Amino acid sequence: MLSKFKIVLVETSHPGNIGAVARAMKNMSMENLCLVAPKIFPSADATARASGANDILSSLERCETLEQAVADCHVVVGASARDRTISWPELAVRECAEKFVSAAFSDVRIALVFGRENSGLKNHELDLCQYLLRIPCNPDFSSLNLAAAVQVVCYELFIAAGDYRQPEIGDRGADPLATAEQMEFFYQHLHQTMQDIGFLHPDKSKTIMRRLRRIFNRTHLDVKELDILRGILRFSQNHNVKKGND
Ligand code: SAH
Repeated sequence: MLSKFKIVLVETSHPGNIGAVARAMKNMSMENLCLVAPKIFPSADATARASGANDILSSLERCETLEQAVADCHVVVGASARDRTISWPELAVRECAEKFVSAAFSDVRIALVFGRENSGLKNHELDLCQYLLRIPCNPDFSSLNLAAAVQVVCYELFIAAGDYRQPEIGDRGADPLATAEQMEFFYQHLHQTMQDIGFLHPDKSKTIMRRLRRIFNRTHLDVKELDILRGILRFSQNHNVKKGND
């Protein structure tokens, strides 16, 4: 899902930032990094700041110009902290992530371009971009560190892609989920047990059963879990009968 995105860094000065970008990307399951004419790379600083995201550093693409870097992309987005005199269509980062992660852009390659630490992107580079991406922040202090900006953008892409979600219901273990019929038997058993042990007042039985169903509907029980609960119910019933006979 995120492999269609390429992070492009233009003329980065500090190799440590390149390493920190690689780390930020890997944290968010992104892998395509492209450097346009970096000042210093490779470098021990980059490797150190990558903190183990070495695969991203060793597989990155290098280009001489931004034109070459984005040549294989269908959409080019430039990240900029500055207000421009000429206006480009602007996207806030979340809006950008939602727009391009969506199925409507499933077959397109998208470049996200980040500028130099000291001077950002030049206007002729923004001319290659269809959109300008902005990370909303303090208007009086709006320039993030390069790697921090990449981190925010990759995080939003990751969230929009939904990769953080827990495994789907039913994927959790080897045991299949209980069927509706098995759940109905369970509710009958629960209802009966609550009567047997004198817990359920017949007048309130409907509301309580509805609330109990709501609890179990939220948890999606599997058959093993249901077996355990029914074992407890059986035990309570037997125990209650025994006590009654004593
Ligand atoms: N001093 C530079 C900013 C450099 S920060 C300038 O005046 O433009 C390095 C890069 O990080 C920027 O070129 C931009 O790509 C990205 N960046 C930093 N803050 C950002 C923000 N608030 N929104 C979008 N991108 C940002």
